[in-house]
Amino acid sequence: MFRIKEWLGTNKSIFRKLMFSYMITILLGLSAVGLAMSYFAKNYIYDGTKEELLRKAKKVNLAIQSYRVDDARATSMLAFLDQTFDTRIWVFDRNGKIISTSTKDEVFIGKSVAHSILVQVLAGKDVVQDLNFKGLNQPMMSVVVPWGEGNKVFGGIVLHAPIEGIDEAVSHIRETILWATLIAVLLTMAMVSYLSWSISRPLKRIDRVALEIEKGNYDQRVQVTSQDEIGDLARSINRMASRLQEVEAERADYDQTRKDFLANVSHELRTPLTAMQGFLEALQDGLVAEEEAKQKYYQVMYKETLHMSRLVNDLMDLVRLEKHEVGLVKRPIDMESILQRLAFTFSEEAAKRSLALSLDIDNPLPPVFGDPDRVDQIFINLINNALKFTEKGMVLLRARAKDGGVEIVVQDSGIGINPHDLHHIWDRFFKVDRVRSRREQGTGLGLAIVKQLVELHNGTIRVESEVDKGTTFIVWLPKDKTISRNAIEEEKKIKNKMLSKGNKDRKEAGKNKGSKHTGKE
Ligand code: ADP
Repeated sequence: MFRIKEWLGTNKSIFRKLMFSYMITILLGLSAVGLAMSYFAKNYIYDGTKEELLRKAKKVNLAIQSYRVDDARATSMLAFLDQTFDTRIWVFDRNGKIISTSTKDEVFIGKSVAHSILVQVLAGKDVVQDLNFKGLNQPMMSVVVPWGEGNKVFGGIVLHAPIEGIDEAVSHIRETILWATLIAVLLTMAMVSYLSWSISRPLKRIDRVALEIEKGNYDQRVQVTSQDEIGDLARSINRMASRLQEVEAERADYDQTRKDFLANVSHELRTPLTAMQGFLEALQDGLVAEEEAKQKYYQVMYKETLHMSRLVNDLMDLVRLEKHEVGLVKRPIDMESILQRLAFTFSEEAAKRSLALSLDIDNPLPPVFGDPDRVDQIFINLINNALKFTEKGMVLLRARAKDGGVEIVVQDSGIGINPHDLHHIWDRFFKVDRVRSRREQGTGLGLAIVKQLVELHNGTIRVESEVDKGTTFIVWLPKDKTISRNAIEEEKKIKNKMLSKGNKDRKEAGKNKGSKHTGKE
């Protein structure tokens, strides 16, 4: 009961509109059909009666041609024909005067027919006229044909007869149309009810889901499978809901990232600040008297400021990289020389930690297309980590040509990374061991920066690690297809030439300066 009420309430407008338009169409259509049918039936009956009367009139003329009209035999012939044809017959002479009728008690004898009729009949033409006298309960028709033989016209013959069947035909048509209307109205009501129900039911569902979406329930979906416009609308609503769900998830994710980020930054800054505050208070209160201890405090505080400034710099760098605000100045670069230089730079640090830092580079290597400073930054971070997280053993830098680029491997025999932590190491501020990382001056931003940089170079980076066995970072950077390794060699030569030329020039300039100076003197 409730459902019917609800349905009536929601689709009443569709129902009313459909019903109204269908009814108007049916009524107008059937009225037009009725009128047209009545008109054609009337015409058909009228034409039939006319043809019939004309045919009868011609036969009357044939029958009475040879008689004189005042002849008694002619009068009885007219009476006979009246009976046979069931029609009244008058005969008039060339003056238009009615001289004989088929019924004896006719009062028309001696009267004249209209002059216009007489003229046409004497000219040999047939005349047809409708007779609509008052008191006639059905329309009458009269036809007038010339009375005569060959070219001789003696006068005219008039035949009157009722036009039968018109009223019956019209009322029959009316009755048929009425029944048709009744059946059409019933069918229309049934059809319109079904139609409005089938339209309003899915619309109601869509409306319900749209209301839920408005309230923020983006997991709601419309269950409509039809392939029509309503189905399309439902699918569009579902797509919109999915998109909103995605956007909402992204927003929540972004919100969480933002919160985590703020919490991490404040935590990272609070730790050195608290330490420095403690040291400063101790110094201020005169708790540290000895000069040696004071110097130690100053050193620790200086280290903390360095750490903070590294943190802020890394953070700014990462933010700019993530926002794509960093423009890389790419050119073909030789990985071999970069790795050799870095190995040299870090050799002291490795020696300090009693680690073997070795190089294994395939020859020849294709040039990679990148920004030299940023490529440096990638490998400084990776080698730094390898040294930091390795207590004994070695750090190996390997490079070889692979898949249209160069694969560079930074491998260590260090503490390794737990499989659970492995996919978190690219996150900002992630450190497996916070205490250790802090001791090693880590910010937790290094690998996030490395990942951004590798991606900006259209390269890839992955990690393999086993706890207590070691970690391997595998970087792949694409080579520049347009410039061959020779171009790098050429570039090196040009550089060296320029350098030696620069030195020569400087020497020359020094000499000239000296001589000028002497000259002046
Ligand atoms: P951090 O400044 O702490 O080194 P990174 O982003 O460079 O920050 O590295 C994130 C974390 O990943 C490190 O704190 C460490 O736990 C882990 N990690 C990175 N490189 C290595 C490695 N070679 N061996 C073991 N753990 C590593």
